[in-house]
Amino acid sequence: MSAPAGSPSSAAKPRLFVVSGPSGVGKSTVLRRVVPRVPGLSFVVSHTTRKRREGEEDGRDYHFVSEAEFDALVAAGAFVEWARVHDHRYGTSRRSLEASAGGDLLIEVDVQGARALRDDISGAVSIFIAPPEFADLRDRLTGRGRESEEEVRRRLRTAENEMPRAGDYDHRIVNDDLDATVRAIVAVIEEAREAAPD
Ligand code: 5GP
Repeated sequence: MSAPAGSPSSAAKPRLFVVSGPSGVGKSTVLRRVVPRVPGLSFVVSHTTRKRREGEEDGRDYHFVSEAEFDALVAAGAFVEWARVHDHRYGTSRRSLEASAGGDLLIEVDVQGARALRDDISGAVSIFIAPPEFADLRDRLTGRGRESEEEVRRRLRTAENEMPRAGDYDHRIVNDDLDATVRAIVAVIEEAREAAPD
């Protein structure tokens, strides 16, 4: 991972909510429901070299770029953090953090990205979404039929390394019920806003 070269600049200093969790835990579904429920919260769109999946939109889910384009962005210092996850690269660009128009930001990153953002940005609130059981991840990854067997195995191996990092986060939420998980994340955001109003 690159060393972050500094904090994102923004006059309004948005609050940053950094969310991680293993592949298959349902992060994207949860976060897609959280954003419209919280006024003034935007989802930060990362760059990735992974291929676009069916149903995903360039610029909404990710900025999908080639390896060469990603290299160029790294060389230009465009990222606050980037990491290699499951053989692909993912990065949070400075520009995506500045696009908040003063509102708060929800960032989904892997455990490496979360560590970098926590170290780099004071006041970032971190949330880890965990499965009720590790076996649920395999069921979900296999059930959604999106990844090859090999990719599922790779994602489960990554998950084994990610799960022990849950304790590094400010909040841990077990996703055993979608609505309850959404409510719990909304509550974390509201609590942080009350604790540190604009
Ligand atoms: P997926 O391929 O399933 O969309 O994402 C794979 C992993 O990459 C997930 O753990 C996700 O949180 C992580 N990820 C997505 N965007 C970023 C990013 O900008 N930086 C980092 N470090 N990880 C990311």
